Amino acid sequence: MVLAELGTRISKAISSMGQAMIIDEKVLDGVLKEICTALLQADVNVKQVANLRNGVKKRVNIPELAAGLNKQRVIEKAVFDELCDMLDSGADPKKVELKKEKGKQHTVMFVGLQGSGKTTTCTKYAYYYKKKGWKPALVCADTYRAGAFDQLKQNATKAQIPFFGSYKETDPAVIAEQGVNRFKAEGRDLIIVDTSGRHKQEAALFEEMKQVAAAVTPDVIIFVMDGSIGQAAFDQAKAFKEAVEVGAVIITKLDGHAKGGGALSAVAATKSPIIFLGTGEHMDQFESFETKRFVQRLLGKGDVSGLMDKIQDVIPEDKQPELLDTISKGNVTMRVLKDMFESVLELGPMSEMMSMLPGFNSDLLPKGNDKQSQMMIRRYITIIESMTDKEADTTNIKTLQETSRVNRLARGSGSTPQQVLSLLESYKHYSKYATQALKAANLPKNLKSMK
Ligand code: GDP
Repeated sequence: MVLAELGTRISKAISSMGQAMIIDEKVLDGVLKEICTALLQADVNVKQVANLRNGVKKRVNIPELAAGLNKQRVIEKAVFDELCDMLDSGADPKKVELKKEKGKQHTVMFVGLQGSGKTTTCTKYAYYYKKKGWKPALVCADTYRAGAFDQLKQNATKAQIPFFGSYKETDPAVIAEQGVNRFKAEGRDLIIVDTSGRHKQEAALFEEMKQVAAAVTPDVIIFVMDGSIGQAAFDQAKAFKEAVEVGAVIITKLDGHAKGGGALSAVAATKSPIIFLGTGEHMDQFESFETKRFVQRLLGKGDVSGLMDKIQDVIPEDKQPELLDTISKGNVTMRVLKDMFESVLELGPMSEMMSMLPGFNSDLLPKGNDKQSQMMIRRYITIIESMTDKEADTTNIKTLQETSRVNRLARGSGSTPQQVLSLLESYKHYSKYATQALKAANLPKNLKSMK
């Protein structure tokens, strides 16, 4: 999970309230202190952290909370809402969302500094839409960096996406226009224009961006930014926004960078919608971003619709509605969990996939080792396979936890009783959150569109 450590610290702070005899102002202050420290260490701006703290205090008035109300829940909800506010740009991402329309050819222009991951992201973006049935094409209008065209060519070839560029032409606006015209004539419905960057913001870069934009009149301009710069992202995003009409932002390199939280909140503060995150160098290490879903996942509550997005690639289409239906009705059985594990194994990388499963936070996985995580999931699958049909189809965890049954399952699957218990523990988390998360993700609607 992007920002796994930050998420784990926040969820731990919240769940630590469970140990308090009474949840009073002092306990709340302690929880907030831990959350604020974690946010500051993720490079979130001091003012934004203070806003979050004050916001939670305003939402939770402990003396006035009705007796019998679950205070931990109320606080958790307040933290959730405040985190959403902090990461929400207030701009409507739907405005820049690509919608397939018959005969409509979209042109999308990418801008950003050199090294931000722009070229890599152009291909990831094209590949993302290709998997959804679009016909993308890539145009390299970067004449500034030597080797830019070769890089785009290489990426595009790997993704089997048509590309256009020139070794001779030096005017980026001319290349951009030629490329867009060519692909329009070829009937492509998504034409992506990669432009030059510079090492830092400078007049020449902004001038060039304007010329390219004038030549291709893009439907949307996407600004790509390196997330490892943390809160410095604020000034950079603002400068680009002022230079051209930035419609959306993609933040890259959020894998393993402690400052990612700072970058996300800083960009949101510039009121530009973040639409995707780059989470690695590979083509599919790219996630669509939606504030609520992201915060849900950050706090270990999964991201069912994100997972479904990925699962559509591997689960046969006719089985998807069935699976969603089962989960949304609360019939989360061991068999359903096994289906999920199998999809997750196929999708990889593990840490990313597992964090999308409701109820699995990074604590439940071996740290930083994909191979070990995979072995653990395979072990879980073997345990489920050694169950009787009745056991695999029950939703009653208590019967599965009987010692004799645990020992039998351990023997039958060549595992230890601890491993069986650990699977049951994971199942408990999963079944608790899956239905809840599915409802929050509005899946009945998705379900309809899938059927
Ligand atoms: P450009 O100069 O903006 O076009 O940047 P490139 O696309 O050439 O990327 C610069 C470097 O960042 C390359 O080594 C990429 O592989 C790497 N990169 C891009 N996106 C990501 C990401 O999300 N995570 C990581 N770890 N590396 C990335």
